[in-house]
Amino acid sequence: MIALPPQSEMDTAFGASDASYDGIFFVAVTTTGIFCRPSCPARKPLPRNVRYFATAREALFAGFRPCKRCRPMETVGRPPNWVLDLLARVEEGSGGRLKDADLKALGHDPARVRRTFQRHYGMTFQAYCRSRRLGRALEQIRRGADLDEVVLDHGFESHSGFREAFGKTFGRPPGKARSTGCIVVAWIETPLGPMVAGATADAICLLEFTDRRMLEAQLRTLQARFKCAAVPGWNRHIAQLQEEMGQYFAGALRRFNVPILAPGTPFQQRVWEELLRIPYGETIAYEALAGAVGSPGACRAVGTANGLNRIAIVIPCHRVVNKNGKLGGYGGGLWRKQRLLDLERGQGPLTGLGAG
Ligand SMILES: [Zn+2]
Repeated sequence: MIALPPQSEMDTAFGASDASYDGIFFVAVTTTGIFCRPSCPARKPLPRNVRYFATAREALFAGFRPCKRCRPMETVGRPPNWVLDLLARVEEGSGGRLKDADLKALGHDPARVRRTFQRHYGMTFQAYCRSRRLGRALEQIRRGADLDEVVLDHGFESHSGFREAFGKTFGRPPGKARSTGCIVVAWIETPLGPMVAGATADAICLLEFTDRRMLEAQLRTLQARFKCAAVPGWNRHIAQLQEEMGQYFAGALRRFNVPILAPGTPFQQRVWEELLRIPYGETIAYEALAGAVGSPGACRAVGTANGLNRIAIVIPCHRVVNKNGKLGGYGGGLWRKQRLLDLERGQGPLTGLGAG
């Protein structure tokens, strides 16, 4: 993992469009789905809509597309024009893939394409295409599109093909020697849309809505923490989680029993432990939460730790709201936060899939 500079330093550098930071970090804007180099001349987004990434690859796999003005993919030197043509072709294409045969038909040598992409972008051309197809598919799901439509629109043959592609972005299957220590990742359907669950052999370590842009980054953090790959799969903890989620959405479960594992900084862990103490059906203000973890006044830090919670719903970060009673933020989308709180306030079970 490449480390990011401190947040305040990135805020300053981006605010000043400081070109000396180009290639050091990348700035993604959640409202537009675009990522930029720090020096991008475009109008600055609101700070709350900004996400920082250490590499263009991470931004891509989180579903962002490169900005056409500042061309953040070209920070290591401008690639040849034929590469730019290929990139443009990928953006134009609505679904079909460009396979080796297609590349040949366009007059490109697939091996050269592979080498050039590796050098400039740190990934193969196929991985780039996959990240863009997946990014666009997730964006459509986020906007409430029907899953079947999305799957077809983007040239995935089937739901399982989509899941497989999704699985591929999580990392390579581990080698034989490491096959016991991986994180298994599964897809769980819920009334609020599909979620991705991750578990080690010991406990659940991830539960996120699949359209959350942070998902990819969260998974990478886990892979780094546990020093292992994530592979599509299933284990007893995921089975238990799925069972309990069903009961939860039916209004029949107030506290999860499935074991969880949430490594983080000591501060993050204090915040997450405190979240687990908020009773079902109740909410707490960011200020009160800051006080409860012994850092009164550290609302912003508490809010950040809250947003970095990797086990949605089970660690109930949705129960933290603004002092004025407004919902505040929620990585999974405010409409979901509202529905979770409504459910917990006894306003009936959640059944149908709402698109918000
Ligand atoms: Zn830009």
